[in-house]
Amino acid sequence: MPELPEIYNLAEQMNRELSGHTIKRVRVFQEKCLNLPAADFSNMLVDRQLATATSRGKWIFTRLDGGVWFLLNLGMGGDVLLHNDDSTLPAKYQVRLDWEDGRILTIRFWWFGYAHAVGDDGLSSHKMTAGLGLTPIRDAGFTEQHFLGLLRGRKGSVKSFLLDQDNVAGIGNVYIQDSLFRAGLHPHRKLNSLTEAEKALLYRGIMQTLSEAVQLHGLAYEKDLYGQPGGIKEFLVGYRQGQACPVCAATVEKIKTGSTASYICPNCQKC
Ligand SMILES: [Zn+2]
Repeated sequence: MPELPEIYNLAEQMNRELSGHTIKRVRVFQEKCLNLPAADFSNMLVDRQLATATSRGKWIFTRLDGGVWFLLNLGMGGDVLLHNDDSTLPAKYQVRLDWEDGRILTIRFWWFGYAHAVGDDGLSSHKMTAGLGLTPIRDAGFTEQHFLGLLRGRKGSVKSFLLDQDNVAGIGNVYIQDSLFRAGLHPHRKLNSLTEAEKALLYRGIMQTLSEAVQLHGLAYEKDLYGQPGGIKEFLVGYRQGQACPVCAATVEKIKTGSTASYICPNCQKC
């Protein structure tokens, strides 16, 4: 599932490639991924020039001229691919945008995703994104002070807090693993038991994990705009059950945390 680093990278590439270019044709092959009837969706996008593409959490926010936003969420995964012409089109995709210079953008959701068109006036009431928290790396406001403020007075476990996109946007069950490991925190740790020093370590663990992943263009099993895989092939403890902890050599364990799995070093991350 693509998380902050993969989506960040895709948005940067879309911004670089498509800014100043105009959508000439929209084709939709799965209408239920839209927020509007296909004809209305198409009317909102066609003949508009892309001003900027950026990301908020796991969403790509594309701003078109005339105050229109094209919002994209890949759900459990997907390919957003840019083609110079129709000779490299994939066999299956749900949305296709043709550009004025002949290039084609295809969007294929592996399972299900969202392609929404929203006007400036509808952005604050767009339910799926209006409540998103700040995005680390992307938003300069996601400082240590901001993060410590978010944690103040909160209850529940550190893992469920971090997975809630309204708190921090962009972290999912992949990048949370090494973020917690770097902070020496067990995913079940209660927020109200964290010391100030542990909270600061958690902030740094998140920032280090995500910024390294952004630099490496994300996971090796996800593709970028050009169909190229990311550079991350393994984690410190994530998905490494049965192998040695890189810090203390204890055996990494896979445990159940609610509906998700967690990978921890039982020695470095005590509950
Ligand atoms: Zn360890």
